[in-house]
Parts: sequence; C-alpha cells; structure tokens
Amino acid sequence: MIAFAAYQNEDSGILEVCPKKLDYLKCEQINKFELKKEENITYRIKKIILESGGINEMICPRCKKDDPQNREMCPDCGYPVKPIPVPPGGKIRFGDYDWFVLDRQNGKALIITEKVIEKRPYHNMDCEITWETCDMRKYLNGEFYNSFNEADLARIAEVVNENPNNSWYGTSGGKPTSDKVFLLSIAEVVKYFGDSGQIKTRYMYPNCEWCKDEFLPWIDDQYNINRRAVDDDDIVQHWKLRSPGANSWHIAEVTGFCGDGFDQGSISLGGGEDVLIDGHFIYDGSGHLSGFLPNGFNPNGVRPALWLREE
Ligand SMILES: [Zn+2]
Repeated sequence: MIAFAAYQNEDSGILEVCPKKLDYLKCEQINKFELKKEENITYRIKKIILESGGINEMICPRCKKDDPQNREMCPDCGYPVKPIPVPPGGKIRFGDYDWFVLDRQNGKALIITEKVIEKRPYHNMDCEITWETCDMRKYLNGEFYNSFNEADLARIAEVVNENPNNSWYGTSGGKPTSDKVFLLSIAEVVKYFGDSGQIKTRYMYPNCEWCKDEFLPWIDDQYNINRRAVDDDDIVQHWKLRSPGANSWHIAEVTGFCGDGFDQGSISLGGGEDVLIDGHFIYDGSGHLSGFLPNGFNPNGVRPALWLREE
C-alpha cells in the first residue's frame, strides 16, 4: 500500500502533498498538482507518483495482483489489504478460537470469534424462519457448544436474548430465546462495531441513477472496516446475524467478498441479494439460507458470540 499524506483544498480543488512524505516517496519535484474533485484522487496520486518513477505499485499481499484503485480489500481475492482493527476490548483466546471482546458487564465478557469460523446453512431450506427455530441456533447451542471442554463449558453463561424486529422492514424477530451461543443482532453490531446514525436515518445516494426513489437496504459507512472478518484463508467473508431481513425468509448479514470489487463490511438489513427492478429492491426470491448465491459465494458465514464468565 502506498503511504502518502495528501489533502484537498476545499476551495481551489488543488491537491497538495506533504513535502516530508514526498521526500519519503523520493519524488520531491512534485509538490502541487491540480485534480478535478470528481476524479479518483487516490488513483491519480498513484499514477503521478508512478510516472515520476518514485514507488512500486500496490500489490495484494495474498494474490500478488496489482490494484490500481488502491482499495481496502483486494477486488480479486477479498484479502483485507487495510488491516481489520481489534476492538477496544481487545482479543482473547478461548477454546480453539481467538475472540474479540465487545463488552464487559457484571464479571462477564461478551465475545465474538475474530474470524468467520465456518460456512454452513442457516436452515435446512429456504423458508420463513426466525432465530428461535432455525438450524443455526440448534447447531451453535448443540454441537458447537459441546465441542468445548468441561472447564470452558462452565464459563459460558446462558443468557436471554431479545430478538427485536427488523427496524427498517418491520419483519418479526420472533420470541426471546435462552442461548448459550448465538449470533449478534443488527442492533448489537451497530452498538459494538460503530454507529454512524444510518440505522436511524436511512441513507439514499444523492442523484443515484439506479436507485432513483429507494432507500438502500444496507448500512454502508466508515465502520465497514471494523465489521469485516476473514476466514482461515484470509478472505473477507459474509457473516449472518440472528435478526430477520426484509422479510421472514431473509436474514440480515454483514457482507463479505463476492467478487463485485467493492470494499465489503456493510450491514445488509435486507439480508439477501440486491435485486433491483425499476429502481426498487425486490425481496420475493430465496434468501439463500440453505445454500449458495448464484455466483457460488456462500453468505452463511458463522461468527459465534457468547457471554464468558471472567476468571
Ligand atoms: Zn488479492
């Protein structure tokens, strides 16, 4: 990744580069150049620096491909080129996994696996479903829970989870559940990974060609990077939540690499493919709970969470 310090003068549109950084980049001859505001500034800076013979291209550490857009995520393989930050609570080892600490209350810590530990169907079929009755909950509180040793099991607290409705679509979240292991809700992801206000004030692209009169079905903000999570191959993956999506056969999720070239990590409150017809998002199809997206990417990544009694 190219390291540079540049800022754009709001009035003149002239982009200036810090002389010290230029020194580091070994291209002192450039200190000021004009750029139109609407151009891709990162790309232009890189191009100019390259033309000056000053620095190597940005290469993805995983697949070794060049990314002219200088994205946070490699658009070819989904590697998080910009590192995913550890939350303020830190990271701990428990059982066979590394966990992020999201909260601490009354001698217990809310923890979530650092990685997307596996991909598995949310349910055995694409149908109307809630957290209470889905296969994922049975698995996490059964097979997954029982994979811990006796000493570790004694530290996992059973809690009552509220399962609020989807606040944008009104879809029922179902009854409260008693869980030992669970997935986060939409509200918990917002609370613990960063709240830009989009959950309350829905976002619409200004002058959007393809979504003329439609609110977007996701929260896409500066906290995408906090929400990104990789699998064991270091690829950013989708991870499912326990909250419903746009209807009862969709489940909300945090988005991962799906080959579209975007930096992922948004919260999809719609919970499925973004199919647009005449500028409207359509959710009458399958939510892909039991399987794969048509392009072969599996959205049902698992990132278990639990309340751990602290020693
Ligand atoms: Zn790559």
